[in-house]
Amino acid sequence: MLLVTRTAMYVPRPPGGMGASKYTHSGRCNLNMTLEKYTVGVGDRFAHQAEAQLQACVQLAADGIEVVPVWNKSNREHSFIGSEPQSVYDAAKAAVEALGWEQGWHVDADHINMDTVDKYLDCSDFFTIDVADFIGQPPEGDAVAVFVGKHPELVGSVSIEGIDAPLEITREYVETVAGKYLRAVAEAGTIYRHIESRKSDFIAEVSMDETDVPQTPPELLIILAALADEGVTLQTIAPKFTGRFNKGVDYVGDLEQFEKEFNDDLAVIAHAIAQYGLPDNLKLSVHSGSDKFSIYPIIGNALRRTGAGVHVKTAGTTWLEELIGLAEAGGDGLALAKEIYAKALENVDALCGPYASVIDINPAQLPTPEAVADWSGDQYANALRHVQEHPEFNQHFRQLLHIAFKLAAKEGARYTDLLKANAEVVGKNVTENLYDRHFKRLFVA
Ligand SMILES: [Zn+2]
Repeated sequence: MLLVTRTAMYVPRPPGGMGASKYTHSGRCNLNMTLEKYTVGVGDRFAHQAEAQLQACVQLAADGIEVVPVWNKSNREHSFIGSEPQSVYDAAKAAVEALGWEQGWHVDADHINMDTVDKYLDCSDFFTIDVADFIGQPPEGDAVAVFVGKHPELVGSVSIEGIDAPLEITREYVETVAGKYLRAVAEAGTIYRHIESRKSDFIAEVSMDETDVPQTPPELLIILAALADEGVTLQTIAPKFTGRFNKGVDYVGDLEQFEKEFNDDLAVIAHAIAQYGLPDNLKLSVHSGSDKFSIYPIIGNALRRTGAGVHVKTAGTTWLEELIGLAEAGGDGLALAKEIYAKALENVDALCGPYASVIDINPAQLPTPEAVADWSGDQYANALRHVQEHPEFNQHFRQLLHIAFKLAAKEGARYTDLLKANAEVVGKNVTENLYDRHFKRLFVA
């Protein structure tokens, strides 16, 4: 079963591509599966849009840019919707077969920990190992002293190609950062080895993004050194960046600062690969919370300038494209879209609770259900569709609906039957969203 899953899951590139090279320099030589250079993590909550999402990759490939899809769905989403991890793999595989996609594709066990990893082992080949909860917990014994003793190169004036001024790092700073992160790194090692004991071939990401304080580039360097010591052969790392990454809407923060931080992070990663023997395709993973349009050109420029790869998780808002398509379809589709909004408004506090730190909804800006009841399908679509310059766009309406997906889940077959009946208009919105608003901004100069 495991072998079949694995073989089916990774479609090797044709000869001459990046290929699945084996690492021999990291001390762990069992890494066969190599994550492609440009990968996009996409969400498909109701498992009906994988083909429309993949179609956006097909279009971009026709432009000469290869981006490999990684379908992800967190444990929280599965529990809200009542789905099983296997369903993500099944939907992805069906899409790959339907479109004859011959490049890579992956299924991400998103934000797993030791409590949740097991049910993803058979149907995922990418594991986002989330250790954010362990940040700040005290490391065991003399781990900090051992780490600092082992890494004299981290203390003093550390020159990193691509960063103008050397990083000035004191021994005390290394101790502080090690004290804050070594317990999380140890946990990443525990989870990594657990997966490794069950699967010979997988891609590991370490995520530390779901925390309050961003990791600075010097912290990232120290964390990568520690992960290398721990033997975690990670291919992506997801730090928390500065600024607000609210769900489903644009970035809020200082774009210049983000640009500097992102570029410095790229330089730190290249440095850490050479210094600590981490996989040479190690890259940043941006957990965008979807739709961070204003930083996408900054990321794209940095990638083209440095030749670095990236993993961007976005388009978890695909389910909003479903609502947009249903609204445009009119009739029962529009009626259900309006009903879901009315229910979301009734349950606004309960819906917002789990997402409080990643949404900014101003209740005064939310339209009344009576007003929405009179809207045409186009008005509903215009208010929801993420075209910020459109006069009818309402980001509060959008954010509330984005976190209301469990209300659609409650409708069960009523919702998914409408998706099937209106597959064309829904799919068109899904593909256009991903291609025009995400891929073009990220990957096309
Ligand atoms: Zn995340």
